[in-house]
Amino acid sequence: MIPAVMPTYARADLMFERGHGAYLVAANGEEYLDFCSGVAVTGLGHAHPHLVEALTAQINKVWHTSNLFRIEGQERLAARLVAATFADTVFFCNSGAEAIECAVKVARKYQSASGRPERYRILTFEGAFHGRTLATLAAGRQEKHLKGFGPVVEGFDQVAWGDAAAARQAIGPETAAILVEPVQGEGGVHLPPDRFLANLRTLADQNGLLLLYDEVQTGMGRCGHLFAYQHFGVAPDVLAVAKGLGGGFPIGACLATEKAAVGMTAGSHGSTFGGNPLAVAAANAVLDVMLAEGFFAHVRAMNTLLLKRLGEVARRYQGVIAEVRGLGLLVGIKCVGANGDLADALRRRHVLTALAGDNVVRFLPPLIVEESHIDRAIAALEGACAELAKV
Ligand SMILES: *Cc1c(COP(=O)(O)O)cnc(C)c1O
Repeated sequence: MIPAVMPTYARADLMFERGHGAYLVAANGEEYLDFCSGVAVTGLGHAHPHLVEALTAQINKVWHTSNLFRIEGQERLAARLVAATFADTVFFCNSGAEAIECAVKVARKYQSASGRPERYRILTFEGAFHGRTLATLAAGRQEKHLKGFGPVVEGFDQVAWGDAAAARQAIGPETAAILVEPVQGEGGVHLPPDRFLANLRTLADQNGLLLLYDEVQTGMGRCGHLFAYQHFGVAPDVLAVAKGLGGGFPIGACLATEKAAVGMTAGSHGSTFGGNPLAVAAANAVLDVMLAEGFFAHVRAMNTLLLKRLGEVARRYQGVIAEVRGLGLLVGIKCVGANGDLADALRRRHVLTALAGDNVVRFLPPLIVEESHIDRAIAALEGACAELAKV
């Protein structure tokens, strides 16, 4: 008999009752070190006092009014995102896929509003993940995600990851934009080759295309800056963010320049829930913490420490770990054996991680992680590697 919850996930048989900081606590009282962070979502850990306070205060005022009315927290959040980035304007939605859908719509509308309605195609890269709606599936073009769901949404072309020359070749008279993750997350933590993003920026500028960044996973401090593009020093025209934005409360956003958003006038796009008072209260509270002096420097310091310690383990267990790579606290361990075996061995040692493509186990600690947490994760990893090295 089909379970009441539609069985679309391969879930671990674990259920958590509460959390605090970098830890989740199971119903039986056992504590787990959370280096999964709800797949790069709970960047400030669990039950962060400032987030709890901000959301509690909003819960007692008003939850939802719709976008038929002004929303104070939304205006404030948009202004803060604009002040902190390349963007001039922000659309709010509820998830990563919706933020990407908005980015694609902005790009198509930009071209049509600029007198080039024939330009609607979006160029993407192999190994990409942009979400599970029909259009974002077409953008990611992963066979395993598309199979059985009928005709693939038209208007997406794909070339090899990191290959700017192939991107140049693939640009045609109907191309509207290039869509890229600055660091591929789900695909297996792939960092862009040198100058890749800069070359895409040049290609976009030379051909009248928009450059769209999918920072759903890399954004909100995950890569050591508010957004990963700030590390690479190459700004987009449009940027999608979600996962970490609400610290665990569902909210997404699409940031754009004034030029890119030229066609996004009243009635052109919408969302019932997008940016509702509860969601923006959560996101504003996340920004309060992240924009405080020294927050991103801490993420970068923890990156240096984590990569150093992981590198030491990898050198000792070359039969288990093939490679360690990452930016900020988006870190991938490429396995020699099945990645699921390493993740299982870590979970038995009460450390939670997330799998990714290319046989990778992702370490996605909360950004508030401390050296003591890293010590604990490394001890568990050593135990897991010793176990796997034997079999
Ligand atoms: C998770 C993710 C998405 C999809 O986000 P949802 O909130 O699951 O719709 C899109 N792009 C990237 C890079 C992601 O990591």
